[in-house]
Amino acid sequence: MKLRTGSAGETEALAEAIGALVRGGDVILLAGDLGAGKTTFTKGLARALGITDTIVSPTFTIVREYEGRVDLAHLDVYRLDHLQELHDIGFDELVDDSRVTVVEWGDVVAAALPRDRLEVWIELPAIPEESDDERIVSVSVHGPSWYERRAELERALAPYAGGGAAC
Ligand code: ADP
Ligand code: MG
Repeated sequence: MKLRTGSAGETEALAEAIGALVRGGDVILLAGDLGAGKTTFTKGLARALGITDTIVSPTFTIVREYEGRVDLAHLDVYRLDHLQELHDIGFDELVDDSRVTVVEWGDVVAAALPRDRLEVWIELPAIPEESDDERIVSVSVHGPSWYERRAELERALAPYAGGGAAC
């Protein structure tokens, strides 16, 4: 699904709509350049999980955990030099049915992530139509548990359609 948002608030709302469909054990890969909106997205997602704590970028800590209706592990793997470090920080134990795991720069460590995952790529449009706050948000489902939710996801994200071709 290729989607478009026009503000940080709208990216949060889009993530919140996705958040209504996530469950424990889910992994979400977030990709996009610095400042694209990965942490902004995570804030919206956290709201849907009933997390009231403020989401702080885990750039330096690599991982932060939050308690909610469903718990959240929020990772930013930008500073990891080797795939092995992901295992060293206990990534394999983090992914379990009690929490949702969101990985900023997940594309960099994609080989080490479960195949069953939602991918969200956030980009600035090549030619902004109206403002610098526009983002193209590409959402794709991978693996059976997400395929199962695909129709529901498309319905939830329909308000943000308009980024071009379907996934
Ligand atoms: P990242 O985690 O990808 O480095 P952040 O979410 O920390 O990015 O920062 C994104 C910045 O861009 C924030 O300052 C946010 O307010 C701004 N922004 C402007 N428009 C948008 C948009 N449509 N979606 C997300 N963030 C946006
Ligand atoms: Mg970030």
